[in-house]
This record gives sequence, structure tokens and C-alpha cells, in this order.
Amino acid sequence: MHLFVLLPLPLILLLYWQFPALLTAVSALFPALVYAAIGLTAALASLMRQWHWLYSLCLLGSHYLVVQQALQRPLSDERTLALSIFLPLCFTIIALLLQLQHKPQLLTKRGLALLAVELLAPLTLLWLPLANWQTALPLPAAFFQPVSERFLLGWGQLWWIAVVASCWLGLLNFYAANSQRWGQFGAWLAVMAFYLFIQEPDMSGWMTLAACLILLLSLSSQMLQLAYIDELTQLPQRRALLSHLSRLGRRSAITMLDVDHFKKFNDTYGHDVGDQVLKLLGSVLASERGLTAYRYGGEEFTLVFSHNKSETLAEKLEQVRARVADYPLVIRQQGRPKDSKSGKQQRGSNAGSKTVHVTISLGCAIRQSGESTEQLLKRADEALYSAKKAGRNQVAFAR
Ligand code: GH3
Ligand code: MG
Ligand code: MG
Repeated sequence: MHLFVLLPLPLILLLYWQFPALLTAVSALFPALVYAAIGLTAALASLMRQWHWLYSLCLLGSHYLVVQQALQRPLSDERTLALSIFLPLCFTIIALLLQLQHKPQLLTKRGLALLAVELLAPLTLLWLPLANWQTALPLPAAFFQPVSERFLLGWGQLWWIAVVASCWLGLLNFYAANSQRWGQFGAWLAVMAFYLFIQEPDMSGWMTLAACLILLLSLSSQMLQLAYIDELTQLPQRRALLSHLSRLGRRSAITMLDVDHFKKFNDTYGHDVGDQVLKLLGSVLASERGLTAYRYGGEEFTLVFSHNKSETLAEKLEQVRARVADYPLVIRQQGRPKDSKSGKQQRGSNAGSKTVHVTISLGCAIRQSGESTEQLLKRADEALYSAKKAGRNQVAFAR
């Protein structure tokens, strides 16, 4: 889903190959343009209080600085060749570190230390006597051997790029991948692409720009997520519903859904267990086909259908109601054991837990001709009220 944030990379590569003349004018503005793009993205991230994006941008900036200072020379120079091997290695290790660890707050000791490492690690390579290190390192000879004029890095380097990329992709899948992770991966991929075309004069600028755009896209995607997706249930929330309602078709229907006796449920089992129920309800509703579910607020949800077939609606809503009512919720009892040993025994035996069920009431309104969405919502709400009044755990249709 979040893969689209990687788009700038193939797009820029395509432009570079197909319309080189188009890009020449822009590349004349490098490196000022590239630094401006990094700075602008950093400013946007800060304005949106997404400070952790600054770590990736800082690494990108210092890497580009080192490339500008020391890599814009022929690779026949031994020191430049060594740097072309160690710089991407250094970039990859720090980028992986960023991906793996929980990013600290920026204005803390750990945050500032991380920022300093990102700034200084690539820069220190500038002062190291790299040329002599080649023979000292236990790496296969192919690692240092140029294959052709164009792909001077050699197959040796290609394989470790492939190995790290697959580890990285594995990690992305292992932890739930979000747009920020894909953004960091994309930025790394763009920088690695530069090393494959290291002999092309403007490639470092283009690829850093691509990395910057990828981070910008992932930042925007994250902001959109924050604005439209409910944190607890992971369903789109009321703002998204209003946007959907504004473009609702003539043939449509709306259902308001409310958990029965939820106040009592919270009082009995605790608010955190109540939250887990809402989370579960969110995943049940999200998995239903043929409808879009929103969290309206509190323990109320809205289902939007883009058809008005009453029989199909009744069937679907009854199916949702039954699915929720039949779902066994395992609740751990109060007075959990203090020591972990007896806790484990209890968990293993399922002792101390209890299975309960929650029910929902649903009120559905089919859109009438010329009816406004406010009226439609009001009628669905009235239908919900009548479902509650008729005894709850049922579906009611508005007249
Ligand atoms: P009814 O069957 O008539 O709907 O009874 P009810 O107790 O569910 O009544 P009502 O809908 O008025 O109660 C809403 C309750 O939902 C109040 C509040 O404790 C609970 N609630 C609302 N939002 C949340 C939430 O985010 N988490 C938890 N745990 N509870 C919530
Ligand atoms: Mg309610
Ligand atoms: Mg309720």
C-alpha cells in the first residue's frame, strides 16, 4: 500500500534516460538545488512536528556533501575508488540502524548523539587513509575490482547491495511496514542507485533529489494517515466520512452502528478492555466486503454502501451483526498473579480468563431521491434508535 512512495526513483531514472536534454537545465543548479530540497523537506517535517524525519534528511545531506567533496573524480584514483566502496557501506549501516532502533526524541541526549553520528560518520571517511585499507580488509578481491567503465563498482559490491536490500525488505515485513519505513528504504535505494551510475556526472544530485522526494511523499502519506485514520481502530474517522458523504452517489445507503450497553461493559471489565473490543470491531468491519466502515466517534461506527438494494443490505447487515455477536472475547480476570511463573501457568491453562460476547445495534437508511446526506444520516440515526428500543442486537431499517 505504501509502496507508491518509491515512485520518484523510477520516474527520475526514466526521465534521465529518455529526456536527458530536459534535465540538463535543472542539473546546472546542483548542488544548491539539492541542499534547498533537503532543507525544505526538513522544514516541512519540523512544521508538522515529525522530527524523526530529520534523522534521514541529515544522513542524506552529509552523504551528498561527501560525494560532492570527494567522489566527483575518476575512479581510477585509488582513494576515490575506496571511498566509493566505504561510503555506501557506511550509509547503509547507519540507515539500517535508523530502521531498526526506536528513534529517540530529537532534543534528548540520545537524539542529538544520533544526529551527530549521522553528520560525522560519512564526513570522517574524508580524512581516513582509505587506499591502504583495501588490502587489510578480509573481503573477496572481486569487491574491489572494477567490472567495466560504466559499472565500475564491480559485482562484489552489487551482491552486498542485494543482500542488504533483501534483509531490509525482510525487516520491513517483519515489523508492520508503514509509510515512514518505506520512505527510509526508498531513500536508501535511491542513494544505492547512484553508486550503480557513479560515472554519470549528475547522478548524485538526481538520486539525492529522488531520495528527498521519496521522504517528502512518505511524510505526506503519514500526515494524511494522522488526519484521516483513527488511531485505535485503524478505520477512517469522521473527517474521512464527511469527505465520502460529499461525493455520495444517488444510489447509496448508510448504516449507523452502536455497541450495546458499552458503558456497562467498560465499568465491568475496564476501559482498556473496552478499547480492545473497539479495536476488534474495527478489524471485523474493515474486513467486510461491499461497504466502507468509518469510526463515527466513541463506540459508534458508520457503514457506507454504494448501492441501494435492500435485500442485499439486509443480508449483509445481519451477517455483520451475527459475526460480532458470535465472536468470543477472552477476558483475563482481575487479580492477575504478581509473579510471572504462576502467570505463565495460568495463561497456558486458560485459567483466570473468561469468554464474553458484545452485541451491536444497526440502523440503516437507503438514500431517497433528492435527499441530502444530513437527512440521510439523521434517518439512519433514528433507525438505530428504534433498533435499540426494540431490544438491541438487531438491524432496523428507516422508513
Ligand atoms: P446503548 O446500548 O444504549 O448504546 O448503551 P451504552 O452504554 O453503549 O450507551 P452509550 O452509547 O451512550 O455509551 C457510550 C459509552 O461508550 C460511553 C463510554 O464509556 C464508551 N466509550 C466511548 N468511546 C470509547 C472509547 O474510545 N473507548 C472505550 N473503552 N469506551 C468508549
Ligand atoms: Mg453510543
Ligand atoms: Mg452504545
